[in-house]
Amino acid sequence: MRGNAFEVPPAWAPRDHDRTHSPLAPEDAMTQPPAHQHPALAAADPELAALVGAEERLQADTLRLIPSENYVSAAVLEASGTVLQNKYSEGYPGRRYYEGQQNIDQVERLAAARAKALFGTDHANVQPYSGSPANLAVYLAFAEPGDTVMGMALPMGGHLTHGWGVSATGKWFRGVQYGVREDTGLVDFDAVRELALKERPKLIFCGGTALPRTIDFAAFAEIAREAGAVLVADIAHIAGLIAGGAHPSPVPHADVISTTTHKTLRGPRGAMLLAREEHAKAIDKAVFPGLQGGPHNQTTAAIAVALHEASQPSFRDYAHAVVANARALADALLARGFDLVSGGTDNHLILMDLTPKDVPGKVAAKALDRAGIVVNYNTVPYDPRKPFDPSGVRIGTPSLTSRGLGTAHMDTVADWIDRGVRAAGAGDEDALLKIRGEVAELMAAFPAPGLPTA
Ligand SMILES: *Cc1c(COP(=O)(O)O)cnc(C)c1O
Repeated sequence: MRGNAFEVPPAWAPRDHDRTHSPLAPEDAMTQPPAHQHPALAAADPELAALVGAEERLQADTLRLIPSENYVSAAVLEASGTVLQNKYSEGYPGRRYYEGQQNIDQVERLAAARAKALFGTDHANVQPYSGSPANLAVYLAFAEPGDTVMGMALPMGGHLTHGWGVSATGKWFRGVQYGVREDTGLVDFDAVRELALKERPKLIFCGGTALPRTIDFAAFAEIAREAGAVLVADIAHIAGLIAGGAHPSPVPHADVISTTTHKTLRGPRGAMLLAREEHAKAIDKAVFPGLQGGPHNQTTAAIAVALHEASQPSFRDYAHAVVANARALADALLARGFDLVSGGTDNHLILMDLTPKDVPGKVAAKALDRAGIVVNYNTVPYDPRKPFDPSGVRIGTPSLTSRGLGTAHMDTVADWIDRGVRAAGAGDEDALLKIRGEVAELMAAFPAPGLPTA
């Protein structure tokens, strides 16, 4: 690829917006082209191959702290790139609308059996294309358009698909929202109960995208029972922690469990719906033919591989290490004067309110990105700023733990974040570039699963 007209600059290279600031010396050790393992792709489409290579480099060289991201294993990557891609399989194993399912049926049965065994549920549907369609299937299974549904408000840490206004789920259903207390950052169950009994929603969602604390599934279940609602536990973020025994399970409290497979569970981009037998038919009918056509069999296969990996003793170690790292990182940030929503974390995720640092979340996130630390800006509960320019930054430890970083490294990570946020406030690009070099050096010592080694 060297010298190819389509060659993309390596990940760490200054982007257009920071080109005016000291570019790295070309003799830098990291100017090596990516070791690419995609010879057919490179030959057929060098432009695209170069982009994939650049992304591999980016994922290798940077400290990835987005809590919904991870590194899948080489085995998961391989499974998702197989000829299972070529097959149409509308229906379910043994009940398909197409012939030639001898192998595909077994793949899907294997994935579902592993999901049921790992999470301890009667039923598993492994066909949803992703977390949002999985949630939409739950609406289709249990509610009618216009029905009231209840979930955590998006700016409090909930997900769009829990009935938020801009989502189809908030347009076609009547969404009512709960939040967290301003003083504690924790769910106020008295308020949740009051809202549920007043509104009598068909569905209650628990779970979210920016929740640093343990979800009390039993408390939600009690309220759902009182209100006559179906309780949906959306464990997209924490499925891997649950599988590894590092977070309590929603089984047997929730009626339906929805999860993505690509976050802490460390599988391909996809989703699953888990439930007791009584809801199996309704869920299956809602996914197909209710909402989707043919399942993505290559993804089903990769989900099966990820579930197999997640059932190994080493995955328990991984899940507990994710939480231990997050706790250590939270402590190290608190020691540096950071304000953390709810005061810390119980899981993989930390939500920082940068108001006391006097740096907007987006400014900090973009500066950290230039320092090789990839995060996302995020609203914090009761944020006085706008969603597209909020006060917070959301970080998490699933990816760095997959690379083998441990609690002993978290002080260094907190130090980089601290220096990066201060540099963002001061507009000190040299300081960001210095951090970028330090990050790349440590990352080189911890190769990521699934990535080519240079
Ligand atoms: C990520 C996430 C989803 C949506 O998943 P997509 O695959 O992005 O559609 C749904 N719910 C929660 C709580 C999530 O964190």
